Amino acid sequence: AADHTMYHAKHAGRNNACFYGDIVHLKALGREHVAIQSRLSSAIQQGGLQVFYQPVVNAKTGEVVSVEALARWLDDKSGWISPELFIPMAEKVGLIQELSEQIMLIAFAKLRDWRDAGLAQKMMINISRSQLFLPSFVTQLVERLSSFRLRPSDIILEITESIALTDYSRQMRHLRQLRLAGFEIAIDDFGTGYSSLSQLHEMPAQMLKVDVSFAQRLHTEDGRRVMHAIAQMAQGLQLELVIEGVESLETARFLQGLGVNYMQGFYFSEPVPAGVAELWMRLGLQAKM
Ligand code: C2E
Ligand code: MG
Ligand code: MG
Ligand code: MG
Repeated sequence: AADHTMYHAKHAGRNNACFYGDIVHLKALGREHVAIQSRLSSAIQQGGLQVFYQPVVNAKTGEVVSVEALARWLDDKSGWISPELFIPMAEKVGLIQELSEQIMLIAFAKLRDWRDAGLAQKMMINISRSQLFLPSFVTQLVERLSSFRLRPSDIILEITESIALTDYSRQMRHLRQLRLAGFEIAIDDFGTGYSSLSQLHEMPAQMLKVDVSFAQRLHTEDGRRVMHAIAQMAQGLQLELVIEGVESLETARFLQGLGVNYMQGFYFSEPVPAGVAELWMRLGLQAKM
């Protein structure tokens, strides 16, 4: 509220209709932002976050091979708020550790259930920059997993490519520790950052997850060429390839033809609550391809 008043006072007396419009917009955004931030804090404190799961399918057979855990937040006032908004917000206000802790507790408990039931054997978990650089991250994660009788090799950690460049050597050190501990590592949102080929090759990662935007460009000749080049590069570097954002049978078939390893996207399933994911795993659903 103090911010709001100050902003108003500073510009009071200016007689510019256009500018006034901007202020209203900025003010509205500013206040909403702060309000959402404080509601996020209480949601985290009250254990109000949820986890949805999206299947990853084998590109040859259409069978589900693992699931990606994705954080979800249903706010009383605004409804579902995108993780694209609340994850960076949690990072900024120093709540990302608590948020991730909650997400992992929920996700690991589910993976335990699913392994016991002979359903999903592996889970993909997104981790953020500040978690990766936390000195105790690896040991805490391993301990946390073992409390669920899970091993690092049951988990694929997704690290976005945009982290992959800043603080390169520091990042490499932390990734190597994770790898030594037995985790699989996937470079997420591949194609949106600026990794060089030699860095990619050096990276202790087993998997590339190609950003959603690439699958969305396959209706153009150019888009198909780019995807073809990515597939060849991944093969050359011996990295497994997951294509995200597969929304149609046509796209799935094209990618199958390129020999990619895995696919993920609305064509197969949106991220869904655990109960729904469990149902299609129990039914042994296999995508039509
Ligand atoms: P991501 O890890 O790259 O996840 C893929 C995003 O693409 C998800 O958005 C998913 O719902 C969406 N998606 C999946 N299939 C399709 C498709 O066919 N078409 C389109 N257009 N989109 C598709 P979501 O769930 O909103 O998550 C956004 C991002 O938030 C994630 O991107 C990830 O970077 C981050 N995030 C989510 N949960 C967590 C978490 O627990 N921890 C951290 N650190 N980040 C998370
Ligand atoms: Mg991801
Ligand atoms: Mg991604
Ligand atoms: Mg993403």
